Amino acid sequence: MERTKKILICGGGIAGPACAWWLSKHGFSVVVVEKASAFRDGGQNVDVKGAGQQVIKRMGLTAQIQARDTGECGQKWLDAAGKVVAVFPKNGFGSLTSDFEILRGDFARVLFDATRHTSEYRFGTHVTGLEETGDGVRVIFDDGATEAFELVICADGMSSSTRSLALAEETRLRYLGAYMAFFKIPRRPEDDLWACSVNGIGGTMIHLRPGGPTETTVLVTFPASEPDPQRPLTLSRRDMLRAALEGRGTVADRLVGELDAVQDFYFGPMSQVQASTWSKGRLVLLGDAAHCPTPFTGKGTALALVGAYVLAGEIKANPTCSEAFRAYESIVRPYAERSQQALSPRMIRLMHVRTRFGVAIAHILQRVFGSRLIQRLLKPGAAAQARKIDEDFALPVY
Ligand SMILES: Cc1cc2nc3c(=O)[nH]c(=O)nc-3n(C[C@H](O)[C@H](O)[C@H](O)COP(=O)(O)OP(=O)(O)OC[C@H]3O[C@@H](n4cnc5c(N)ncnc54)[C@H](O)[C@@H]3O)c2cc1C
Repeated sequence: MERTKKILICGGGIAGPACAWWLSKHGFSVVVVEKASAFRDGGQNVDVKGAGQQVIKRMGLTAQIQARDTGECGQKWLDAAGKVVAVFPKNGFGSLTSDFEILRGDFARVLFDATRHTSEYRFGTHVTGLEETGDGVRVIFDDGATEAFELVICADGMSSSTRSLALAEETRLRYLGAYMAFFKIPRRPEDDLWACSVNGIGGTMIHLRPGGPTETTVLVTFPASEPDPQRPLTLSRRDMLRAALEGRGTVADRLVGELDAVQDFYFGPMSQVQASTWSKGRLVLLGDAAHCPTPFTGKGTALALVGAYVLAGEIKANPTCSEAFRAYESIVRPYAERSQQALSPRMIRLMHVRTRFGVAIAHILQRVFGSRLIQRLLKPGAAAQARKIDEDFALPVY
């Protein structure tokens, strides 16, 4: 590629900084623009699975990530009164807890610290226009300033506005039939190192997880009809969540009591990003902007890391942008699509049981699968399955 070696990355979350790390290592000069006015350290527990762990290892960051592990030791299912129904230890069959558990904000901080001295970060700005020139792209920023880059990487998350500048027609959101809310609440003495999950009547599902010495992280999901972008919501986001929690038992009551004081509040439809192509001209999609699988798969972070590694490697290895982008997409797309297909609206419906009878059946299944005997019988299969997932993507060497 005839190169100025100057690359713009939009988005300073996980995918953007990870790609900046690899591009700097390959000798490119990288500018990262982040819309937020400062580094964003929000977010809950994310799993770094399979090939994502390999990327971290190749970056030499494993020890730093492990030092920030939340220490979660497994998952307990509770009933509406808060009594334990079943226990699934870490790495057991059906457990939410994987062997690499970290808060998203801690993870983003490690990546930011590892790149802040080798890439230029600009906060509080975003791209409003892109004009292809013969040998590069002229980027227009929100303050009217313009600057030339060799190519633009769009890593600004699932609702990416940079993507809409070039690939709006090619992208759709696949709604999975539920809303989700993430936030943190003050930790109580009874909040230990176990994730606690509750299936509530009406389909409300709650997960409380260790979030550090002073906080407990919360994920609530509940079924709802697809939002109509033309019609504004009649209830505020917090009121929608309150309605999904009220009358759902002791854990839900605790959340209702804390809701007004919650700061770092994320609420939105559970949707996957599906783009028919990941690039156009000198713009390429990365991370959630390309293929958000939803946090429910636990694969978004690993996918972002793998995509960042492969994209940077292919940019280094190929003479032109179009060849680099084509190679990147052909390597990563099958992996991303497999992760997305692991979830469907039907599965989401089955997981969010609505009736008293459905909740009773869910408790019976949790007791059966959580029993020592079944865990002992299924654990080797679960380990083999985890290995299979880990091995299903071979990272290229660049
Ligand atoms: C605050 C926050 C909390 C999250 N919490 C969780 C969680 O609890 N569990 C989970 O599984 N996943 C969570 N995610 C999503 C998770 O980080 C991603 O699924 C995954 O890691 C892929 O990362 P990404 O870099 O592609 O996207 P993201 O991590 O979403 O990063 C995108 C970044 O782009 C920035 N941005 C947005 N628009 C623009 C723009 N126009 N120009 C420049 N920058 C822009 C955003 O501020 C953000 O920093 C969270 C994301 C954010 C931003």
